[in-house]
Amino acid sequence: MYKQLAEWLITSAHTTVLTGAGMSTESGVPDFRSSTGLWRNVDPKQVATVEAMEENYPLFYQFYAERIHALQKVKPHIGHDILANWERRGLITSIATQNVDGLHQAAGSKKVIELHGSIRQIRCRSCRRPVEESEFLQDSTCKVCKGNLRPGVVLFGEMLPEQAWQQAYTAMEQAELVLVMGTSLEVFPVNQLPFVSQGKIVMINLEPVHQEERFDLATHGKVGEVLQKVDDYLE
Ligand code: NAD
Repeated sequence: MYKQLAEWLITSAHTTVLTGAGMSTESGVPDFRSSTGLWRNVDPKQVATVEAMEENYPLFYQFYAERIHALQKVKPHIGHDILANWERRGLITSIATQNVDGLHQAAGSKKVIELHGSIRQIRCRSCRRPVEESEFLQDSTCKVCKGNLRPGVVLFGEMLPEQAWQQAYTAMEQAELVLVMGTSLEVFPVNQLPFVSQGKIVMINLEPVHQEERFDLATHGKVGEVLQKVDDYLE
């Protein structure tokens, strides 16, 4: 199947990639599934919400401040490097990601569509003024309007950034091959994106996911290891 995937990559004129939290676990960033219950016995899905930000800002703040601290020590892994290399070689045209950690860009990928925003871009909740990460980590309020600060991630209950959504949608429409990796495909509406494509769709994930039968090819394994095996066939 690795050989098959390598052949599809070479023959496809337009390949796009969709990544989720499983793309980053090999860098040491926990996904939502394995982290559930591990963070002070709070499910991240209950904290990464508009309600938590509005009604329990201290908990919301603590969650994101800890995540930002943790991300400062994290580096891209071989899987991120291979995708960046495939883009340079013209084998893939874009990566649409649900991840907010910036690891694709850190690996050198240029065309990255951030569907759920970026944890690295902090702003004031009230006046939307961009704020330095260091200011957020000091647990301060906005210097201008005293509003609470927040990371530029899309919280549960918020709309996706329209431009990113349009770009990802168009990439899927044009794609002859879509590689979906490290996502449970449980989060709407991103879980609809792969099926916009008229081309081949491939799933690479540690465990079986919803709607797996709709994929032309599905493999269960670690993204880094699978991409390395496909890359070996490309050499
Ligand atoms: P998810 O946690 O629901 O699913 C991750 C999937 O990846 C799981 O099915 C798991 O089996 C698989 N997986 C874990 N490690 C893997 C590996 N090494 N190789 C292959 N597969 C692996 O995550 P999701 O589908 O991205 O959706 C949840 C939401 O969580 C998204 O909205 C995303 O924005 C957010 N999130 C982002 C980060 C991040 O930026 N790194 C981390 C956690 C959650």
